[in-house]
Amino acid sequence: MYEHDVIVVGAGGAGLRAAVAAHEAGADVAMVTKLHPVRSHTGAAEGGINAALREGDDWELHAYDTMKGSDYLGDAPAVETLAQDAPEETINLEHWGMPFSREDDGTVSQRPFGGLSFPRTTYAGAETGHHLLHTMYEQVVKRGIEVYDEWFVTRLAVTDEPDPNDRTCHGVVAYDVQTGKIEGFKARKGVVLATGGPGQAFDHTTNAVSCTGDGQAMAYRAGAPLEDMEFIQFHPTSLPSTGVLISEGVRGEGGILYNDEGERFMFEYGYANNSGELASRDVVARAELTEVNEGRGVNDEYVHLDMRHLGEERIMDRLENILHLAEDFEGVDGLVEPMPVKPGQHYAMGGIETDENGATCIDGLYAAGECACVSVHGGNRLGGNALPELIVFGKRAGYHAAGGDLGEAEIETGYADDVEDDDTDLPITPGEAGIEPEGVAADGSGQVTDAAGSLERAVEAERERVDHLLEKDDGVQHSEIRSKLQQAMTDYVNVFRTEEGVKKALKIIRECRQEYQDVYVADPSRTFNTDLQHTIETRNLIDVAETIALGALVRDEFRGAHWRKEHQERKDDEWLKHTLISWDRGKPSVWYRPVILEGEEKTYEPKVRSY
Ligand SMILES: Cc1cc2nc3c(=O)[nH]c(=O)nc-3n(C[C@H](O)[C@H](O)[C@H](O)COP(=O)(O)OP(=O)(O)OC[C@H]3O[C@@H](n4cnc5c(N)ncnc54)[C@H](O)[C@@H]3O)c2cc1C
Repeated sequence: MYEHDVIVVGAGGAGLRAAVAAHEAGADVAMVTKLHPVRSHTGAAEGGINAALREGDDWELHAYDTMKGSDYLGDAPAVETLAQDAPEETINLEHWGMPFSREDDGTVSQRPFGGLSFPRTTYAGAETGHHLLHTMYEQVVKRGIEVYDEWFVTRLAVTDEPDPNDRTCHGVVAYDVQTGKIEGFKARKGVVLATGGPGQAFDHTTNAVSCTGDGQAMAYRAGAPLEDMEFIQFHPTSLPSTGVLISEGVRGEGGILYNDEGERFMFEYGYANNSGELASRDVVARAELTEVNEGRGVNDEYVHLDMRHLGEERIMDRLENILHLAEDFEGVDGLVEPMPVKPGQHYAMGGIETDENGATCIDGLYAAGECACVSVHGGNRLGGNALPELIVFGKRAGYHAAGGDLGEAEIETGYADDVEDDDTDLPITPGEAGIEPEGVAADGSGQVTDAAGSLERAVEAERERVDHLLEKDDGVQHSEIRSKLQQAMTDYVNVFRTEEGVKKALKIIRECRQEYQDVYVADPSRTFNTDLQHTIETRNLIDVAETIALGALVRDEFRGAHWRKEHQERKDDEWLKHTLISWDRGKPSVWYRPVILEGEEKTYEPKVRSY
């Protein structure tokens, strides 16, 4: 058993920032991560970090753009905190040595990004995330923070009070990928989940294979609600054959989208008459797919993104990485021909419900970064707003977990008696209800132990689960289940959603859960057993995918990235509220909490969102 004040699970941008903040608050901190820190998915971020740094810009404008981009589903206290703290945090990165791109006069460069009223995206070439990870990892190393890398966290040690609001998190259980050893990590003060997104729930995604929603699934099964899971961002410019991202920075620098007929369709067909290619991502993704569906797509599948007119010098200076990606993954030379692009799953706006201090409803359990929903992005995230979220809310969560005082939070967490419950008729029984409890799928749900023994019991349960998976010598392989799940999500819970389609997805997810009862791991070894790790991750994907589809079914309106064929309008009278899904002893329940539109000095009145 290992023991520290604060355990940070995950070492991407959010985890690294949380660890440094907790350390600065005087805590003995450890990071537990399934990947080496600089291999975290933050390293893939290309475009940049939004922060109001220049004359003519200010945090109020940033907050306004973010609320509008969120389609009025962001909570104002979180949105304003993001906009207010992003400049200081970005300058802090610069002081730590982040090599931001610069103008000739030495000032840090900023470029336009979709949905921004000011060019406020600060960047380091087209490799912003890579530099951010290295800069922050240096700070972790400098402070001597202990990093347990290639330790895969499989379960939280949480007490078993009936009401999740009364539970406490005492630590985590992790599996050492190198040796197969399973150990407990006791957290004297708090656990911060910073485990990233669930992109692998879809089969065409810009996300790495490591993005399997582990933290969301573990927190959910331990009793922390998942919020606004139906809001998935589909990025308009992913490469068709692999899902690899072509940064919004290309359009920020002036890149143009064309259909197969050579028309600049964003203007030609009136999708966004003012902002064109730089409309918000949900708007551009729908426009591209409409072009394809109406027969104007290239090869009936994608559109073209052209940056040739920017000239070789500018491309090499600001977008060199994009040239390599297009060449390596699509065989296209972006200097002489347009690049093929289509929408791909990119980001989860929803996640583990937290307040603006990173706290969940479970005492001692915090979350930050893409796995969390604080909520700043609401129905649609603006490009360049995830990285500032990592550093602003990663810092707050780490500081608070270490015992730092951030004052009373305005955002509430956890189920309460006065919330509104959902009464939608579901086509399936979600969750584990009805499935044999002895099966391997019975792992990881609500904890059954008292406070003192919670960690020991959780370790024992995980050892039993892994033994069971390794001893079973036939059945279904996780990869079959995962492919079926990913296909269903891509077919039915994509950019365009219908009630019938989402119901089909829920039924297929249910089948996946049943098939998982018979899952087995072909590789019996305990050393670097990626088959075992992926099998456990697939279970997490099933839980998370189910919440995405459930949210998509119950929200019968069109808001932000959530488009419903039968409901073509934003219904502010009914739907200015967050969707919350709680895992209630094996059976999810859906309920709602009103969005907070009142900011420090003004209320963000919902308006028509046009670009
Ligand atoms: C291709 C791409 C480009 C992007 N570009 C931008 C951009 O330019 N600007 C912007 O604002 N946003 C961008 N985004 C979004 C942004 O990069 C991500 O939302 C953000 O980096 C996520 O950071 P994170 O720290 O939450 O998670 P990650 O960086 O994904 O880190 C997750 C960490 O958790 C660990 N982990 C996960 N599960 C476990 C487990 N079970 N046990 C132990 N450890 C675990 C992993 O090892 C990893 O260290 C981009 C996203 C993508 C996919």
